[in-house]
Amino acid sequence: MNSNAYSFEFFPPKTAEGMATLRDARAELAKFNPEFFSVTFGAGGSTRDRTMETVLDIQQQGLAAAPHISCISSSKEEIRALLQAYQASGIKRLVALRGDLPSGEVSAGDFRYASELVAFIRAETGQHFHIEVAAYPEFHPEAKSPAADVLNLKRKMDAGANSAITQYFYNADAYFHFIDQCAAAGINAPIVPGIMPIYNITQLARFSNVCGAEIPRWLRLRLEEYGDDMASLRAFGIDVVTDLCETLRVFGAPSLHFYTLNRAGVIANIIGNLPD
Ligand code: FAD
Repeated sequence: MNSNAYSFEFFPPKTAEGMATLRDARAELAKFNPEFFSVTFGAGGSTRDRTMETVLDIQQQGLAAAPHISCISSSKEEIRALLQAYQASGIKRLVALRGDLPSGEVSAGDFRYASELVAFIRAETGQHFHIEVAAYPEFHPEAKSPAADVLNLKRKMDAGANSAITQYFYNADAYFHFIDQCAAAGINAPIVPGIMPIYNITQLARFSNVCGAEIPRWLRLRLEEYGDDMASLRAFGIDVVTDLCETLRVFGAPSLHFYTLNRAGVIANIIGNLPD
């Protein structure tokens, strides 16, 4: 299977049991020969050490690992130390983000936007890292306008990013329209769709409220109809997300990045359904 076909995102577990669950998921997903596994970074650096531990644990298995780094509320010294530690550990890829301020946090730090973080990484470490940034086919909730958000992605690319991973979406047309807008703005880098499997409507609705990703009305109503019948909801979710992945692939998505929530089963089903 093409090793550029997939990448998988984890969050850093808080407990030994959580780490064991993540390792099981990683072992199952490694069978799909992913380009890399990424590990999120808690708001304001709250998971800094756990992100690093998780990334190094993946790397020790001989797998490519990419830490996320968010810059809001961090100082240049803190980010510099993190970059040096990752570089010394042989990490070659980063996902560079602004992040969201944790509630109650007041310090804004030395960076306002992800483009400033990307420029800082390039200034500090040259071309050592492949830098991924975030993109928003349904637009970032704080963006002044769709055009301003596309220009922000361009700014991140011009600052030195190599490729982008999108927020999740269930409307393939939003992605294709966004890709056209990016091309018109002179963005030629790969923009990989982020795929959120459907496990649970309450959790999905909560995520979507925060990040501005739309659950289309038809999909929400169908998911709500399943009530407590989780097995049927998951089977339906697998069909919906398989169709989405197939459409994205057929029409040229460079790869698929799965938000795993540290679970492998549903994703293995989806990938198993996709034609080679
Ligand atoms: P930016 O690119 O800085 O954009 C933020 C907002 O500011 C946008 O509305 C943009 O249009 C606007 N903007 C940017 N520059 C300017 C400017 N110069 N003037 C005016 N407006 C501007 N969060 C975490 O905390 N940890 C993670 O690990 C994490 N991983 C993620 C992975 C992916 C693939 C994605 C899509 C998101 C992830 N996030 C993560 C969430 C992300 O941190 C939030 O969406 C955050 O609100 C924006 O981050 P950004 O890097 O896109 O910010």
